Amino acid sequence: MNSNVGPNLLVLLKRYNLCRICFERQLPRTIVLPSAYVTRSDKCNVCGGMMNRAGRLAKMVLRQLKQYEFASFLIGARVPAEILEQEDTIRSALKLRGGETLKAQITRTVGEIVADVTGKKVQYHRADVLAILEPKTSTIEVLSRPLFLFGRYLKSRRGILQRNRRCQTCSGQGCPTCLHSGWEKVKSVENILASALTNEFHCMEIRFSWMGSEDDNSLVQGEGRPFYAELLNPQIRSSKAAQRLTEKRLTGVSVNQLEIVDNRPEVLPPFLVKVRINITENGKIESERLRILKATLTNAEVHIDQPRKRKTAIKKVYWLRFRRRAPNRLELYMLCDSGISIRKLVGGDYGSIHPNFATILGTSITLDENRPFDILDVILPDSTMKTQSLYHM
Ligand SMILES: [Zn+2]
Ligand SMILES: [Zn+2]
Repeated sequence: MNSNVGPNLLVLLKRYNLCRICFERQLPRTIVLPSAYVTRSDKCNVCGGMMNRAGRLAKMVLRQLKQYEFASFLIGARVPAEILEQEDTIRSALKLRGGETLKAQITRTVGEIVADVTGKKVQYHRADVLAILEPKTSTIEVLSRPLFLFGRYLKSRRGILQRNRRCQTCSGQGCPTCLHSGWEKVKSVENILASALTNEFHCMEIRFSWMGSEDDNSLVQGEGRPFYAELLNPQIRSSKAAQRLTEKRLTGVSVNQLEIVDNRPEVLPPFLVKVRINITENGKIESERLRILKATLTNAEVHIDQPRKRKTAIKKVYWLRFRRRAPNRLELYMLCDSGISIRKLVGGDYGSIHPNFATILGTSITLDENRPFDILDVILPDSTMKTQSLYHM
C-alpha cells in the first residue's frame, strides 16, 4: 500500500464504493490504488459506470459529427443532479479539495478522443459544434453555432412576394387550411431563398433581415437587394456552399452575392435606392408640370408623418427624371433614401407625405399595377459601386 494514503482515507473511500476512475479522480496522481478498494464500474456510487463508457460515448459523438462541417468543437454533458450531489458529498466527507469533477473528466476524456480522431480542436468560446452528452441515457445532442450570411437577391419575375404571409384564416395560429404551419403557401423570395439555403447548408431554420422591401409585382435589378440570414444549426458552414448558391438558377429569384459574416447588425444601416416608377396618366400631364416635379424633387427633403411614432421622418430625393413611353404612360427614375414608400410618394397618402407627386402634378395618376415600380439598384453606404451609376437611369 502506498504510504501516502492513510488507512482511514481508504476505509472511507471503500465505504463510498467508487470505481477506479472515480477513485483516482479524487486523489493525487501519484497514489497507486490497491485493487481491494475498487468497486466494479457499474456499481460505482458516483458515476454508475458512466466513466467506463467514455470511449463508447466518444464513438457516438464521432458518428454524429460526421454530418457536420467544423473546425472546432466543444463537448458538454448533462450530468444528473443526484450524481453531482453524490460526488460533492463524498468530497466534503473526505475533505478533498480541488481536483477534477466527474463532469469535467467525462467531457475532457471524450473531447480528447474526438480531437485525436478528427484532428479538430476543442474550443471553449464560439466552437463550431457543441456535442452534449446525456450519459444516463447514452444519447448525444449536437448543436452547431448559427451561421450568418450577407447576400443580395435579384428578382427577374413579377408576382413574387418578398416575405411570407401569415395564414389569413387563422392569423398564424395554425389551422387545417395552412396545414398548421400558420403561413400561407405562397411564392415568395423568402421561401425560394430559404429552400435553397436549406439545401446547401442543411440547416434547421432561417431568420431573414431584409434591407427594405418592394411590391410583389416589382423587379429587383442591379446589384440586388441586400439581406442578412441567420441559419440555425447548419451542418455545412463553408464559403463554397455560399458560392454554389450564387451560381444556381432559381425560378424568378437569384442570389447575386452571398458571403459568410460574423454577425448580423442589430440596426440595419440606411441606404439609397434607385427606382423606376411606372405611372399611368388618367389625363395628360403637361410637360410644364413634369418640369416642376423634377425641380421640386431634385436634392429635396421629403417629410413623412409617422403618427404612431409621433414624429416626422425626413428623407431625401437626390434626383428625378422622366421618360414618356406612350401617350398615357410615364416612367419616372429616381434616386432616394431608403424608407420612402413609393406608393405614398406617388399618391400623397392623404397629405401625410410632402411633397408628393399627386399634389405637384395636380392630376389623377396611378401606378401601373402590373408593374408599379422596379428596384434598379440598392446602394449601401460603403458600396464600392462606381458613383457614376448613381447618375444614370
Ligand atoms: Zn465511477
Ligand atoms: Zn391557418
